[in-house]
Amino acid sequence: MDTIKTRFAPSPTGWLHVGGARTALFNYLLAKLTGGTFLLRIEDTDRARHDESAVEKIIEDLRWLGIEWDEGVEVGGDNGPYRQSERLEIYTEHIGRLLDAGLAYYAFETPEELDAMRTAARAEKRNFRYPRPDPLPTAADADKARAEDKPVVVRFKIPKRDVTIRDEVFGEVTVAAAEQDDFIIAKDDGWPTYHLANVVDDALMGVNFVCRGQEFLSQTWRHVLLREAFGFAEPKYAHLPLIMDMAGRKLSKRDGAVEVHAFRTAGYLPEVLVNFIALLGWNPGGNIEQLTMDGLRDMFSVDRIGKANAKFDREKLLAFNTDAAAAADENRLLAGFRDYLSLNETPIPGDDDSLLLHLLRINKGFRTFADIPAKCGVLFAADDAYDYDEKAVKKVLAKGDGSGYAMLEHLKAKLADCEWTEDAIQALVEGVCAEKSVGMGKVAQPIRVAVTGTTVSPAIYDTLMILGREKTLARIDRCLLMR
Ligand code: GLU
Repeated sequence: MDTIKTRFAPSPTGWLHVGGARTALFNYLLAKLTGGTFLLRIEDTDRARHDESAVEKIIEDLRWLGIEWDEGVEVGGDNGPYRQSERLEIYTEHIGRLLDAGLAYYAFETPEELDAMRTAARAEKRNFRYPRPDPLPTAADADKARAEDKPVVVRFKIPKRDVTIRDEVFGEVTVAAAEQDDFIIAKDDGWPTYHLANVVDDALMGVNFVCRGQEFLSQTWRHVLLREAFGFAEPKYAHLPLIMDMAGRKLSKRDGAVEVHAFRTAGYLPEVLVNFIALLGWNPGGNIEQLTMDGLRDMFSVDRIGKANAKFDREKLLAFNTDAAAAADENRLLAGFRDYLSLNETPIPGDDDSLLLHLLRINKGFRTFADIPAKCGVLFAADDAYDYDEKAVKKVLAKGDGSGYAMLEHLKAKLADCEWTEDAIQALVEGVCAEKSVGMGKVAQPIRVAVTGTTVSPAIYDTLMILGREKTLARIDRCLLMR
């Protein structure tokens, strides 16, 4: 084969799913292997389920992941338009060709009639196959049916022979003639079905390698037959194993995010998601698990895609993100954190880079960006806008006759006079520990509960430095009122 030309051809009925992102990534990597072309085509012929915002989101999410296409929507190329909704004439012409050649024919059943035929087949315990009429309806019959307001579709006349698909992952897959039937290629509304449009576009756009999810493998015989009927060259096929959750069920929203955008909003780094997604069905061999896009481009190969269902291990993804965040340089993290803040409403001001860098530093070890507002958001909220965690108050302040409150009272007077630097606050806290002969917890925790409502926050000096004296004292006052 010459250089590989692949495509990602999403139907914009929803946002980009991690399964779709994997298909896009593998197609991108396949093309890059040979210095080939990766194309993005939008398959939007299903007008009833069309969601225009999904097109924008898919494009945005692919770019966020760093999956760039060489040809297709937005970037252009010689084989456009790249949205199927703008290619109706091309499909109509191709459907006409098959009709003229006697390789397709009209059919007029209503959905109710088809249902009745299916029910009858089921009652007789046989698989439903559309019964090809003899003689075949003519164009005049189609006109008549239209005049009578009957649905008019076009069906492909299968040659009634077994079809063998040579798949790069699943090997030879044969679909017996008895399992095929005359499938629809043009719908009543005049739009082609997915099969027709997909095959015509792949051929006209020069795609010579089709890589997509395993769920399409059972449909591929239709594509092989259509290509033969048109005299199109056969591409290579690689179907990717299914992606399951840890319980072995089809991955679904039920147990967490499945859309790329949701992972972005949840504070994951795109390069981590790419790394993780690449390992869903493919492995580089050895014990290598951490890969950058450059590394993937160098190492990717079709023969290391497995047939076994892939497992979507969310804990592993979280661990990947934690490790990558710990290893990433500050500017990378800053850009990621800003992106995270622009997508989420948090009390943290997103436009103060030095503050954001400071937060990244004092939160080192965070798992996703979401951990930072979870821990520090309260420091930027209004002084009366956070709740006190009942358990924390009981344990740290109220217990033992309110010894925590007493400590707070004692600290308050000292903090009011303290120079507001990290060193001075540290000296103050350590001084009180010595003075009262208590451990650090007995001093720092009452302050922490008072100013954050909880027992978790960054180191006490960092916490107080971010708050400033005025807010610290106001919060302590508010807390003491609960006594
Ligand atoms: N538009 C199809 C889908 O997203 C593409 C399938 C294919 O890659 O052939 O479901």
